Amino acid sequence: MIEPKGNIVEIFKSIQGEGLWIGEGQIFLRLAGCNLSCKNCDTNYALEIPQKYKIEDNDYRNNPVTLTETIETIKSYGLFSTTVSVTGGEPLLQIDYLKMLLPILKSEGCKIYIETNATLPEQLALILPWIDIVSADIKLPSFTGEEDIPKEHREFLRIAKEKDLFVKVVVTDETIMNEISIAVDIVMGVDRNIPLVIQPAMKNGKLMENQERLFGFHDYAAKRLTTVRLIPQIHKLIGWK
Ligand code: SF4
Repeated sequence: MIEPKGNIVEIFKSIQGEGLWIGEGQIFLRLAGCNLSCKNCDTNYALEIPQKYKIEDNDYRNNPVTLTETIETIKSYGLFSTTVSVTGGEPLLQIDYLKMLLPILKSEGCKIYIETNATLPEQLALILPWIDIVSADIKLPSFTGEEDIPKEHREFLRIAKEKDLFVKVVVTDETIMNEISIAVDIVMGVDRNIPLVIQPAMKNGKLMENQERLFGFHDYAAKRLTTVRLIPQIHKLIGWK
């Protein structure tokens, strides 16, 4: 059998800066490529496959990468029993690579955290047994620039909810209450106990959205869902990667 290879943008160690696991030390494995092209994408450097990927800030290696090389790099951090954050781009696009990689990482004692745009439910189902935490975005039109919220979100959440799942919506100055209402309906349609994180986007080191509007989004959601949090991207506020 031919071993699947991965296309990576970078591997680095940091704290998780978003969502319910803020502050946890993680090894980030950022995969290249995405099936969406959001107008407010803050990782647009991850949308194309680079010839070389980066380990921390100064070690460049060739793509595609083998499973062995990926695992050796992650092991080299010496924090191998901690969490590996599989992110992107959209990591589920590289499902063949992940199907082989994640069972090995799990067998080595890793916790697997996946950050996804929640549009590829069939791919998620293929690797669900090896995932511990799912950070699933609901992509609002004001963020993506598309007309509608992706229709796959509901099915994705149905599959993901058997894991430690939270949903994230990134809001900008253009976000309107109707979008929040649709996102809340999607979560409620699956399980109102799924936590929802409202994350104000950042621009030039500052939060987009004013406080009162953010409180309005929070209050609307909190009346309908069990757990709602309003959390900015901490790593950007403190200037970390
Ligand atoms: S889904 Fe995420 S990585 Fe893909 S374009 Fe949108 S913001 Fe960027």
